[in-house]
Amino acid sequence: MPPQPDLTQNLIGWFDRHKRDLPWRRTADPWAILVSEVMLQQTRVEVVLDYYERFLKRYPGAQELAAAGEADLLAAWSGLGYYRRARHLQAAARTIVEEHGGAFPRDFESILSLPGVGRTTAGAVASIAFGLPYPVVDGNVARVLARLFLVEGDFRKRAQARRFWDLAEELLDRRRPGDSNQAFMELGALTCLRKKPRCLLCPLARECRARQEGRCDDLPARRARRPPLPVRLIAVLLRQGKAVALVRRAPGTLMAGLLDVPALEVGAGDDARARAVRWLKDRFGLGVRGLEEAGVARHAITHRRVRVEVFTAQPAARETAALLREARGEHAPAGIAPEPDEQGLRFIALEEARGLALSALARKILAAGGL
Ligand code: SF4
Repeated sequence: MPPQPDLTQNLIGWFDRHKRDLPWRRTADPWAILVSEVMLQQTRVEVVLDYYERFLKRYPGAQELAAAGEADLLAAWSGLGYYRRARHLQAAARTIVEEHGGAFPRDFESILSLPGVGRTTAGAVASIAFGLPYPVVDGNVARVLARLFLVEGDFRKRAQARRFWDLAEELLDRRRPGDSNQAFMELGALTCLRKKPRCLLCPLARECRARQEGRCDDLPARRARRPPLPVRLIAVLLRQGKAVALVRRAPGTLMAGLLDVPALEVGAGDDARARAVRWLKDRFGLGVRGLEEAGVARHAITHRRVRVEVFTAQPAARETAALLREARGEHAPAGIAPEPDEQGLRFIALEEARGLALSALARKILAAGGL
């Protein structure tokens, strides 16, 4: 069945009445809209709300972000996760400065060619900021379309994506493309939920094929997920006065540049205490005293379920300069435990550390250790 001509109008009417008042909906500034779209890619709205305005205050335009140092950028992004997005955003800012004279590009192709910007983000920025008639297909929109028109398959797969994009294009209201795209996204976020869609409240219930056929719960088809791999880490919170020892993750490794608590991946049957003491000695040349179990932190990251046993301790000697030594783990590393950069351990005042680019895992470890 082809899309109904008044379907989008119904939906935009619903959007006008029910849309959430979100800060990125109060602006037509393409830079602010790009920032919000990138932040929202893998992060919930409630979390983004905490960061968006602070980030824009620090980097109100492409020029400011283009000139930012890596540590500042990572600190501003710290807690949002998926740091590759921050690096891409900075690369996009530098392209805007270097190739567009600092002015945000106003045509779809130029927006799409910015680093880290795909068809969905480009469509959102082009339609919302410039009123250009380009559709958006993100997870929320794809779920709505799959149910409305009984579209099988995964919109992320190239072979199946075409059907979703064609439908989104057909349904787009070309007079209000920004609101039209946001209306589909909002319906997916508020009403056409992944689990238990609120069909009784849905403005499109009459047109919805999945509802007519009782298939709302099986569409879209669930992606087969690998069961998460358990990873066991030991982390040591080394305290010296008000400072705690942290390492900066080495360039080229997972979450490079972020500060982390020194941690080691171990096997299921390893003696955590003995391994921690030996590892600190071998790796950092550091003896410790007062090693005590402090708690457990849990973290999920890219198909891994990480359990961290957190210890607290003090350095045995006054000297804390630590020479990084090559140490080989006995277990195939999952890449979750930080690989320190060449400076090894450094003691940083706890209050100062909280304002720096700490990984989400480090924040959980500090909390589990009562800091
Ligand atoms: S009727 Fe239900 S399944 Fe269909 S679009 Fe609306 S909320 Fe989604």
